[in-house]
Amino acid sequence: MAGWRGLVAALTPAHCLACAEPVEESACVCASCWQKLKFLDEPVCNVLGTPFAYDPGEGVLSPQALSHPPAWDRARAALVFDDVSKEFVHAFKYGDRAEAGLFMARLMARAGRRLVAEADVILPVPLHWTRLWKRRFNQAAFLAQHIAKAGGKAFEPQALKRLRATPQQVGLDAEARRKNMRKAFAVARPDAVAGKAVLLVDDVRTTGATITACADALKSAGAVRVDVLTFALVNEPFRPHI
Ligand SMILES: [Zn+2]
Repeated sequence: MAGWRGLVAALTPAHCLACAEPVEESACVCASCWQKLKFLDEPVCNVLGTPFAYDPGEGVLSPQALSHPPAWDRARAALVFDDVSKEFVHAFKYGDRAEAGLFMARLMARAGRRLVAEADVILPVPLHWTRLWKRRFNQAAFLAQHIAKAGGKAFEPQALKRLRATPQQVGLDAEARRKNMRKAFAVARPDAVAGKAVLLVDDVRTTGATITACADALKSAGAVRVDVLTFALVNEPFRPHI
């Protein structure tokens, strides 16, 4: 199905990226899919970016953020990760659909406008070079570059490096896992992040383990703030990392 959609989309570009229905020239999503998108608009937890059922007021934190403060300062995502938003991520990641990336970057810039405005430097969650080679490009870097350009901010794709593709976590307790995961990333250019407010960009935020490791590395290198902006957030029921 996905292959067929990809083929149709490649032959005739004016199709909805989510459902492949025809759309007007320059549109990325049809009206029906647009209505199904679950936007993570305010009110959200100022730290986790997760939605509140009611508006508790400016800057209020969720119980989860208070009981288990993350390594980053503030996180925002444009959309809940679901069957519709997943299609955009896949069209971009596996279908080489640059217009999907541009659409995602626009929604992210909107959801994270305050984070972008208050950032000194914007950088992507890095891919290990072996994956970079297989996929040919880092989609997080594409998103970060376009968000930085639109916001008039510095873009530093080389500041943070991934040293290992997938660190072995078997047999380690929570603290050891975090330390081990942290070794997967290193700040290659401390001058680009020391004393700076950093905005870290990725396509999807899941458990937060990767972003936690990046935030730890950036703060160790002297970043004064690490905010996180993703296109989609996997909004699972709260499960503390024990
Ligand atoms: Zn559609």
